[in-house]
Amino acid sequence: MKQKIINVDLKVNLDPLINFTQGIFQKKEIKIITEELSRVAGFLWDRRWAERNAGNISVNITSLFSIKDLDKFSTYPFLPLPREYAGLKRQLLLITAAGSRMRDLAMDPLEELCLVYISDSAKAYHIIAPERIEKEPMPTSELPTHLAIHEMLCRTNAPEKALVHSHVTELIALTHNPKFLSAESLTGILWKMHPETVIFQPKGYGFVPYTIPGTEKIATLTARCFENNPVVIWEKHGAMAIGKTISEAFDELDLAAKAAGIFLSCARNGSEPDGLTDEEIREIRQHYCL
Ligand SMILES: [Zn+2]
Repeated sequence: MKQKIINVDLKVNLDPLINFTQGIFQKKEIKIITEELSRVAGFLWDRRWAERNAGNISVNITSLFSIKDLDKFSTYPFLPLPREYAGLKRQLLLITAAGSRMRDLAMDPLEELCLVYISDSAKAYHIIAPERIEKEPMPTSELPTHLAIHEMLCRTNAPEKALVHSHVTELIALTHNPKFLSAESLTGILWKMHPETVIFQPKGYGFVPYTIPGTEKIATLTARCFENNPVVIWEKHGAMAIGKTISEAFDELDLAAKAAGIFLSCARNGSEPDGLTDEEIREIRQHYCL
């Protein structure tokens, strides 16, 4: 099904697709994912990591649809992509909409979500939104980063399908300390603060120096980091995590925040903690065969 990008028209007649669109969002598997997304959005808001419209979430849901269904997604309105995403051809992502708020997603996720289907040409994406959304749905402004990461995950056949970005206060605070502006130093301090980080993140944490959000540059740098680390910290901005599920990705952010919070609590009381020794970290690695 070859397709040329001929125009950008979000006002095409969607009437013939209403039943199909409604069916997508009533599908049992999609309901489970949107409910999970809603729960996690509530956690992000409760932790104060999601001020205003901060944060975004996406899940690759291609495997839940038949080839025939995927063909239908090609008939929805479409927009050009900033570059070709060859590794994402005919992939379907559930993604939070631009301007959506986590506190609203926690209440009613269908009002704040859309689907993005990458065209056969891999140079455009189709937008599918729950039928009752009245405003024009557009995916998050961090779309380039989500696409670059999902493309890398597809290329490497990774089991991770979900991606969560949030303004994790504790991690942002760490990156305001010049001592922690590298993957090595951030990993070192997080491992030292909490044994669980060694167990669950044995490869350590990724780090992207300050870069303007929503750009191709941050997308490329972040996707590269995710090849080795399931959590990537953005200097003075926040963090992203991948997981097999949205909850799993949230767990990774939560754990990193816990470790960073321990450091900050000690620092607030006037003492920079020594944390676990190198020998103690080595013992944990040996015990868990990491
Ligand atoms: Zn952000």
